Amino acid sequence: MVHSRHRDKQTVADEDSSRGRSTIAVHAGESRQKYGDAITDAIFCSSTFTFTDSQSVIDFIEQKQHREEYGRYGSPGEKFVEAKIAALEGGQEAVLFASGMAAIVGLLMTKLGHGDEIIFFDECYHRSREFCTKHLSRYGVVTRQVPTCDYAAMEAAITPKTRLLISESPTNPHLSCIDMERFVQIGREHGVETLIDATLATPCNLRSIEAGVDYVLHSATKYLGGHNDLLAGVVIGQSDSLEPVRNLRGVMGAVSAPHNIYLLARGLKTLELRMDRHNKNGLAVAEFLQDHPRVERVYYPGLSTHPYYEVARRTMRGYGGLVTFLVKGADWRETADVIDAVTIPRIGPSLGGVESLIEQPMVMSYYGCTPQEREQYGIPDNMIRLACGIENTEDLIADLAQALTI
Ligand SMILES: *Cc1c(COP(=O)(O)O)cnc(C)c1O
Repeated sequence: MVHSRHRDKQTVADEDSSRGRSTIAVHAGESRQKYGDAITDAIFCSSTFTFTDSQSVIDFIEQKQHREEYGRYGSPGEKFVEAKIAALEGGQEAVLFASGMAAIVGLLMTKLGHGDEIIFFDECYHRSREFCTKHLSRYGVVTRQVPTCDYAAMEAAITPKTRLLISESPTNPHLSCIDMERFVQIGREHGVETLIDATLATPCNLRSIEAGVDYVLHSATKYLGGHNDLLAGVVIGQSDSLEPVRNLRGVMGAVSAPHNIYLLARGLKTLELRMDRHNKNGLAVAEFLQDHPRVERVYYPGLSTHPYYEVARRTMRGYGGLVTFLVKGADWRETADVIDAVTIPRIGPSLGGVESLIEQPMVMSYYGCTPQEREQYGIPDNMIRLACGIENTEDLIADLAQALTI
């Protein structure tokens, strides 16, 4: 039997919603006075939770008592961090998962059944697309992909069976930005729910819930955790819509371990400070690359040359640390030489941590694809994705300058 986990009716998070992001990030979701009078939350390494007597078991099952039962259904640390993230995003409730992909899989498996249809913009995280096209299809869910930001195509693809409209914003790795108003309006007009994967934006740069999106999703592995030391994912939305998601998570068992949760809560406290630096580094690096003779094209929403600059400027507070660019006239090997020549960013997948990371999508994530598939996904051989960390801006630029002279 699966029990939904009930949130403490602690109103701290609600009261906090008018405060600044950092105030919320540091304090929301936490009790003021904690176990052992410690200022930090305890890490409860407990797989199960005990009852004083049989009556208290019955009271819990009859939902007269809100408490923990068994680690797969929730834990005390998880409760704090979920409340903190819900407050940061301005949503009613958050459900934490073991990774971003677990969150996507959990949400889609909950909301979709045989015969249902979903529509998503085609620029997206490779594994999200893979889950929809390769796996959901086996359960009779039909996936329709339409060109990113083609709102007319999205609307035209809606049928009475459509259950969910899905997009990232900004997209990975092309950094296209969604016009939230139009996206939400299409969903509302047709009675279809909307989902935004706002991993690249964070609640600091984009206010998806305020724009009316039904579900906001983050890979907390990236900026929310922020230190390249954990995996987690989260879905934020209305409590009643998320209750079945929470129940399925309890069945899937895609929960985070207590130490992981502690690291996430700790990372979140500096989210806004880190984002300010990621935003600064991203913009400065994009501007530097844009003027560089060896660079063919830069994808960054903060550049006035970016196709979605106006949308981004209207809806975002900053544009994040991810910068994608093409090395002019370079084949895959010459592009790899640029990557091999940098001395500060490490070579690796992922983004959003304090350490800068650099990669060639053709080599890192799309090596197994055919050239035709890479062309279809918009991944040329000379594309580099740089995830700026929080290092000093001048150092990152000087490092890129020397790598590009090679
Ligand atoms: C990384 C990422 C994911 C997947 O998250 P994991 O935590 O790695 O499972 C999903 N969406 C986007 C946009 C991502 O960048």
